[in-house]
Amino acid sequence: MEDCIFCKIIKGEIPSKKLYEDEFVYAFYDINPEAPVHFLVIPKEHVKSANDLNEKNMNVVSHIFKVINKLVVELGVSESGYRIVNNCGVDGGQTVNHMHFHVLGGRNLQWPPG
Ligand code: AMP
Ligand code: ZN
Repeated sequence: MEDCIFCKIIKGEIPSKKLYEDEFVYAFYDINPEAPVHFLVIPKEHVKSANDLNEKNMNVVSHIFKVINKLVVELGVSESGYRIVNNCGVDGGQTVNHMHFHVLGGRNLQWPPG
């Protein structure tokens, strides 16, 4: 989608530190990490937010979790623990309108979030 920074990252028009890519998803380090391990996993198809998941596109969510499963092992946080976050909409704190899953680990995360 035009003017979407994550679509531009997928196309290579904006640089990113890629962790993983396949036909359906792209994973890369967050530019402003909130934890020693902080990466994002996004569908290659532009889906604006979790609100826009439907019968046709929601298979990508299970694929994203499969990719997360692999990456947390590679990055050494599968045993210590981590948090998967999806911010949806304004009150959810979503700032980039291309659905993404944050994965944070490598430190003891607090709860509840602010
Ligand atoms: P959210 O607030 O849930 O929409 O998260 C958006 C995330 O995207 C933030 O954690 C940003 O630091 C991150 N972000 C924004 N631009 C980039 C970029 N060019 N490369 C990597 N991460 C980015
Ligand atoms: Zn997009």
